[in-house]
Amino acid sequence: MENTNAQGAHYSFFRGVERNFDKAAKYTRYETGILQQIKVCNSVYKMKFPVRVGNDIEVIEAYRVQHSHHKLPCKGGIRYSMDVNQDEVMALAALMTYKCAIVNVPFGGAKGGIKIDPKRYTNFQLENITRRYASELVKKNFIGPGIDVPAPDYGTGAREMSWIVDTYASLKPGEVDAMACITGKPVTQGGVRGRTEATGLGVFYGVREVCNTADDMKKLGLPVGVEGKRVIVQGLGNVGYHAAKFFYDNGSIIVGIAEYEGGIYCEKGIDIYKLVEHRKATGSILDFPGATNIKNSADTLEQPCDILIPAALENVINASNATRIQAKIIGEGANGPLSPEADEILNKKGVIIVPDMYLNAGGVTVSYFEWLKNLSHVRFGRLDKRFSENWNTSILKTVEDLTGKRVTDIERVQLLHGPDEVDLVYSGLEDTMIGSYHEIREAMLSLDGTVDMRTAAFTLAINKIGVSYEELGIFP
Ligand code: NAD
Repeated sequence: MENTNAQGAHYSFFRGVERNFDKAAKYTRYETGILQQIKVCNSVYKMKFPVRVGNDIEVIEAYRVQHSHHKLPCKGGIRYSMDVNQDEVMALAALMTYKCAIVNVPFGGAKGGIKIDPKRYTNFQLENITRRYASELVKKNFIGPGIDVPAPDYGTGAREMSWIVDTYASLKPGEVDAMACITGKPVTQGGVRGRTEATGLGVFYGVREVCNTADDMKKLGLPVGVEGKRVIVQGLGNVGYHAAKFFYDNGSIIVGIAEYEGGIYCEKGIDIYKLVEHRKATGSILDFPGATNIKNSADTLEQPCDILIPAALENVINASNATRIQAKIIGEGANGPLSPEADEILNKKGVIIVPDMYLNAGGVTVSYFEWLKNLSHVRFGRLDKRFSENWNTSILKTVEDLTGKRVTDIERVQLLHGPDEVDLVYSGLEDTMIGSYHEIREAMLSLDGTVDMRTAAFTLAINKIGVSYEELGIFP
């Protein structure tokens, strides 16, 4: 998708990422050559392969881009969409590099895409396309636990990841770490508990941290905390649904939802669970009882709210609609939902824009945990859950003996509970999102005070990647 600047000239998504990079690079100390090396895509693989669809043979176009090899393996999702093109995959791969650096996940950035509309194919045909894509990646050494580890993205999920790991394992018999060649797998196939909801949960943790920062809320004239804040979410897919669900569960009011078929708005709030049931029953979010339909889905973004979460596609807030956005906080659930022009307009208005490369990093963070689990071949919590429970039991017994008082049964269950895998994953994700937010905020405050959060996040990422390149030196 293209952006348009103030003069009406067009430039690409990748160029947009480069522009944001350049804006931040001037706050770093690296020489031009290092900055250039950080910015470019290291390997771009465009492929075409035939797949039998019914009685015909279709030639499918697909990509895998490895943006940075400063840390290996590379990491990034695979999307299925008719909008997939080289520039888009390059831009998304670059964002992955910066994202991993920001949340201290030791991977280089990558991204993949197949230019198809998955809705046009049967499950059997989709499986064929996915397996063929995976085998093309194997042939060119573009996938592997220490090389490049894909994950789900727009239009793909755990099912596709299973097909890919199975294809990889079949082509690499006996490779003991084969499960670590991809993340976002079903739990039964080496996935980690908490991965499905990780990106949406990370979006929630990140925005919650913003809302808990009293100084920032004061500037916006909003009370501290997410409770009672009005939220609009665009895209009720993996990221959008889970983000909406966690906001809803924590007392925010979901006033609007936008999907491709249109939008709905309800000042009193939308019960997200009932909306999902309604969509299952009717095939659409429209006509939800108590809510008003919005025919043009994009108009939903312009309705009154405190927090706006675009969680569908890139460039949905751009020079043409940015001035009409009413939200005071925009949390970028999707990758690149704001064009650089929109970014500028909304920053001038004082809107807090929580950038994608931090905010939607929950997915890659938990993918990192899944990769670690696959390499260690043991479920998180398996070794220490019982130990913790026994330990907690003896501490509680000592306290009860010393005080002569007993806790209630409910308190006992809570206090004795040893961590399950999902507890540890949520805790690791929460810690990452909170810690990284404060790293970015500190970077923002230490710069000249006029720098926005995206530029601060970029600066932080460039500094971390720059150190890597400097320390590694240049291979002759
Ligand atoms: P998804 O396919 O599960 O969901 C996307 C949703 O957006 C779908 O429900 C779709 O119907 C809806 N949609 C499509 N066009 C729309 C439009 N014009 N208006 C409103 N809704 C529309 O995809 P996802 O995994 O949730 O990814 C969404 C975004 O988040 C993408 O930008 C992706 O790159 C980014 N992201 C995803 C992950 C992840 O773990 N899944 C991680 C990081 C970033």
